[in-house]
Parts: sequence; C-alpha cells; structure tokens
Amino acid sequence: MKHACNNCGAVHETEDLAPIKDLSLRLEPGDVVPTGECPDCGAMCHPVTDPILVHTVVFHDYDGCYAVVFSTPAAARSWVAGWFKVSIAQDLDLDSEAQAYLAGVLKALPDKPDEAELEQALSDYADWASPGGDWTRVEIITGPMDPEPS
Ligand SMILES: [Zn+2]
Repeated sequence: MKHACNNCGAVHETEDLAPIKDLSLRLEPGDVVPTGECPDCGAMCHPVTDPILVHTVVFHDYDGCYAVVFSTPAAARSWVAGWFKVSIAQDLDLDSEAQAYLAGVLKALPDKPDEAELEQALSDYADWASPGGDWTRVEIITGPMDPEPS
C-alpha cells in the first residue's frame, strides 16, 4: 500500500513510514486517522487509493464518435459482441464475398468473447468498414474514471 504525505506530497511504502508521535494531540474530531509519519518531513500520511478504472467502448465513424462506459472489460467486450451480431451482421449484404466473410466472423463471435476473439472481429470490421483508413473503427479504452486534467 502507498501513503501520501499531507505536507510535502511524498509517497511512501508502508514499511517506510515512521510511527506517529502524539497522535491524540494531532487529531481533531472528524479527522481521518493517518497511517504514519512522513520519514522526510514528519507530517502525517494517509493511504493513496488506486483510481477506479472504467472500460469505454468508443465508436469512430464519419459522423464523429460516441462512447459507452462499462465497469469491467468483459462487460465491454460482451456489449460490442452483441452490437456486432445484431446491428452489423444482420445488415450485411451476403452477395459480396467480403461482406459474407465479415458476417460469418461476427455471427460466430461468442456472446462473451475473450480479448483475442474480439480483437479479430474488430480488426475484420475495421478492414471492411474503412479499407485503407481508420476513420470507422471500434475500440475499448481502459482508464481512470475521473482522470486529472492534463
Ligand atoms: Zn512529508
């Protein structure tokens, strides 16, 4: 676990924290109990919590882009698989060899595809939807739910 110093901002591992001197004198009612003292400056440290990650399905096409957010990568992959099967596979014109191939790939995709299965379908879809370009594509982006502005 990592702990951040309230004063100097340094981040320390648990084993590097110093014991807290005079804890009862340094806390006000309602304060969060610190986990240790900063070995650099002696101020109090609190645990750093990992950011919550979300998995965003992003569609890019000639109209722009839109996104749907999921809490797990498996949920995001399942949703894309369902969208491929229902919205895309059914609309393909099976007279064309390329479209028939893509329809086969998308319909064969499991309801809960693993990463490799979905990656293959996404790649086939991108090749079909925008050959020679990447203006139409679907991707899953993983990142913190509330990223710091950069
Ligand atoms: Zn410090």
